[in-house]
Amino acid sequence: MNTPANAAVVGAGPNGLAAAVTLARAGVPVTVFEAAETVGGGTRTQEIVQPGVLHDMCSAIHPMALGTEFFRQFEIARRVDFAVPEASYANPLDGAHGIRAAIAYRDLDRTREELGGDGTAYARLYRPVLNHLEGVIDFALGGSLLRWPQSIPAAITMAMRTAEQGTPLWGARFREEAAPSLVSGVAAHSIGRMPNLATAGVGIVLGALGHAGGWPVPIGGSRMITDALVADLVAHGGRVELGREIRHLDELEGFDVKMFDTSTRGLLSIAGSALPAAYRRALARFRFGDAATKVDFVLDGPIPWSDPRVHAAPTVHLGGTRGEAAHAEREVARGRHPEQPFVLLAQPTEFDPDRNPAGTHAVWSYTHVPHGSNIDMVSAVTTQIERFAPGFRDRIIAVHQTSAADLAQYNNNYVGGDFSAGAITLRQLLARPVISPEPWRTPLPGVYLCSSATPPGPGVHGLSGWYAARTALRREYGLPAPELGVAGP
Ligand SMILES: Cc1cc2nc3c(=O)[nH]c(=O)nc-3n(C[C@H](O)[C@H](O)[C@H](O)COP(=O)(O)OP(=O)(O)OC[C@H]3O[C@@H](n4cnc5c(N)ncnc54)[C@H](O)[C@@H]3O)c2cc1C
Repeated sequence: MNTPANAAVVGAGPNGLAAAVTLARAGVPVTVFEAAETVGGGTRTQEIVQPGVLHDMCSAIHPMALGTEFFRQFEIARRVDFAVPEASYANPLDGAHGIRAAIAYRDLDRTREELGGDGTAYARLYRPVLNHLEGVIDFALGGSLLRWPQSIPAAITMAMRTAEQGTPLWGARFREEAAPSLVSGVAAHSIGRMPNLATAGVGIVLGALGHAGGWPVPIGGSRMITDALVADLVAHGGRVELGREIRHLDELEGFDVKMFDTSTRGLLSIAGSALPAAYRRALARFRFGDAATKVDFVLDGPIPWSDPRVHAAPTVHLGGTRGEAAHAEREVARGRHPEQPFVLLAQPTEFDPDRNPAGTHAVWSYTHVPHGSNIDMVSAVTTQIERFAPGFRDRIIAVHQTSAADLAQYNNNYVGGDFSAGAITLRQLLARPVISPEPWRTPLPGVYLCSSATPPGPGVHGLSGWYAARTALRREYGLPAPELGVAGP
């Protein structure tokens, strides 16, 4: 068999590496060029706050690594150890109706029982989604949203729930604060005003994964996921060049296929005038959204949650009630820094105690801020945690902020600190970055975009890279998608 013409992948984030592994497994010689000195993009695990204590720099919790098709075929669970806690996420509250925290357990019945008065309404929101989970995942994450869904009942189930939770009807089924706070805490993962259809859709899918496979914590940190991808790539003849930022298409001369795990802005600047004007205009129209500022802590003990059940959850949403969280998100959308911000917090030490020296607890958190923000959020974030965990402040050994502006410096893809590589709006879920049945393909022969600027969007799922590579294999090489499993070729 002739060796297929070679390919370059620009960027070693989870999507770039998923693309590289897929091409290499099909027999294509692949070189990955990564600007940073380490692989991983949004999956790096490193010392941030103090020497010897590891923090996930970006992603920490991985519902999509165990719940979606690329990593299922790659058999990630056989390559990386995951802790899959009984609880997926929690939303502490001030104690109205006697409930100090809403907890989403993997077991929906247990969730219902502990939620109080709205438990049944909550279970009725998610049960049909869980009954159609495979079809819902196919609909939401199966590639372009313009595809005909595999399962019409699943698509209708998803659409109805999104329409309910993404519009002013969102409170209709609930009477208390706990259950709706749980639903909107997940929706708020995609930064934006609430209610809106795009965030509601994300919330329904991530919430359903929380009640199915769970929200796993990789033992050793998120880097284990991309380390596994690199190991497989190298075992199949691929290469990675670190410290190689690609600035111009000419640098990739000699490569027949070029895959870009970059933002749309990155692709525009690299390929520039080689791209047809209409496509350039479409990329230039693609809008970046608001941002994250990260605050990492090292503590001398676990977080003293008022409600001890919160220790069971790897992710904690700290926004208070749904109304408070929506207010905080609205402030960000207006370009303001909320006094009581919505904070996402992960407490990996609870589930991976050997990751760090005994007696130290790593706490990962971020909060939403306006695009490009450089404002100090440490005090606001600390106060919000202290509100639900009195005594937290006294446990802090060290703290470190990475502002949205710092994040943009850290990774070219996070323009202005927008880690979704483009705002999550309904329009930009359909046109990501263009409306096309194959949005990964650019009009330039052999040039593909494979980052989370393409469907299905942000998150560590490798799907954008996998879809892009499969499209390239079919169109450029006439090859089928390869086996990806441990025992594969
Ligand atoms: C604070 C934070 C928390 C997050 N939490 C989670 C979470 O818990 N769970 C989850 O699933 N997701 C989370 N995410 C999102 C997730 O990290 C991203 O969606 C994901 O990493 C996107 O993967 P990617 O491969 O598209 O891009 P990236 O991971 O951003 O990788 C792109 C890579 O390309 C490189 N690159 C860019 N331009 C060039 C160039 N010109 N030349 C060479 N190299 C280049 C970059 O250096 C980078 O390494 C989080 C992100 C952040 C910032």
